[in-house]
Amino acid sequence: MNTVSTDSSGGSGSTGGVSSPAEGEVARICQELLRIDTSNYGDDSGPGERVAAEYVAGLLTDVGLDVELFESRPGRTSVVTRIEGADPSRPALVLHGHTDVVPAQASDWSVDPFAGEEIDGLLWGRGAVDMKDMDAMILSVVRQYVREGRKPARDVVVAMFADEEAGGVLGSHWAVAHRPELFEGATEAISEVGGFSVDVAGTRAYLLQTAEKGLAWLRLVADGRAGHGSAVNHENALTALAEAVARIGRFTWPYTLTPTVERLLRGVSHLTGLPFDAEDPAAIDTLVRALGPAAPFVGATVRHTANPTRLHAGYKDNVIPGRAEAAIDVRLLPGYEEEGLATVRDLAGPAVRVEPIHQDIALEVPFEGALVDAMVGAIATEDPGSVVLPYTLSGGTDNKALSRLGITGYGFAPLRLPADLDFIRMFHGVDERVPVDALRFGTRVLDRLLATC
Ligand SMILES: [Zn+2]
Repeated sequence: MNTVSTDSSGGSGSTGGVSSPAEGEVARICQELLRIDTSNYGDDSGPGERVAAEYVAGLLTDVGLDVELFESRPGRTSVVTRIEGADPSRPALVLHGHTDVVPAQASDWSVDPFAGEEIDGLLWGRGAVDMKDMDAMILSVVRQYVREGRKPARDVVVAMFADEEAGGVLGSHWAVAHRPELFEGATEAISEVGGFSVDVAGTRAYLLQTAEKGLAWLRLVADGRAGHGSAVNHENALTALAEAVARIGRFTWPYTLTPTVERLLRGVSHLTGLPFDAEDPAAIDTLVRALGPAAPFVGATVRHTANPTRLHAGYKDNVIPGRAEAAIDVRLLPGYEEEGLATVRDLAGPAVRVEPIHQDIALEVPFEGALVDAMVGAIATEDPGSVVLPYTLSGGTDNKALSRLGITGYGFAPLRLPADLDFIRMFHGVDERVPVDALRFGTRVLDRLLATC
């Protein structure tokens, strides 16, 4: 199916309306990926990533690259290839994506979430922004480089992982633990979730992700005295647990601005003329709101968050249980992890134990250096008059896994978006969709980036 519309954007920086091979095929590749159902239910009950990985491998071998497919479990397939750079003595750059998606409830959608339909210049489907868009951009640009006999500035490792949507245990974390040699010599990485534009007071601002919050899924356990529901009982485990859950869930976390968030909000202040005052929560709120649809993302990065997510206690209406348990999803600011966890333990109180269920690290790197300059420069060339600001992701990405190999990761999936598209809501949302024009813009930016990275 022909999905490629003419570039009506007049995209500055594109070569006079002559579209590149990558621009010409990025929408088709994205569409074909969208049509492969890779729903990840957090266990092995989904279709897995093998079909998508074989499709990706086909695109890469088609241009003569050697690829390696590997599986953490049958059907949970990842793909890796390496492209030689102009200066192979320099450390390699990893371009990575994930091929799995969160499930989609088809009845909630306006279209079939796995049909990859193009409607009015947008590609619709689960994964359109998270993150088969970037997968397609990476693949089409790499194919173009190889077919044209060009070399990126340095070696590039392309990895398409399984299982990101369940924490990467069967994808990136598995690869880092079992196949670290695939990333040998790599020091930096680029992937989701950043690089998209938001409108700030009439200026397009691209948010480059330079930090991620850490996560701690914690179990609260209260032990008490089991007994008859008619008795006087001041050691009721359920009561103690409920008090702890309420204290944590109701707690107003103070604002703490990490270097990344401060730099972002100073940038917003500059664009809007609104005052920046790190000590004034109301001023911070106002700056966050100026980010429009991105405000919920950013609003969760000016403080820790701790949300009760599960409760478990009791088995009969007239029996006081001896134990009660809850789960809390805690997201921690980089650099303040211990402080945040200590506060949760204080709030839980002496009657409740706090046990780890699953934890992963926070990341933060400075908004500076040659690779950041190359990303900012590529955007400046393709979208003059725009700005690039750093931001912190409130969730996590496969960059957490790669960081264990000493690889510094950035979120940079460049998309020039219309100001009225509520892009953030698309992540794991209903009617997820991406403008074809934005995909083509992204290939032009990535093309420039690989030449200068
Ligand atoms: Zn993702």
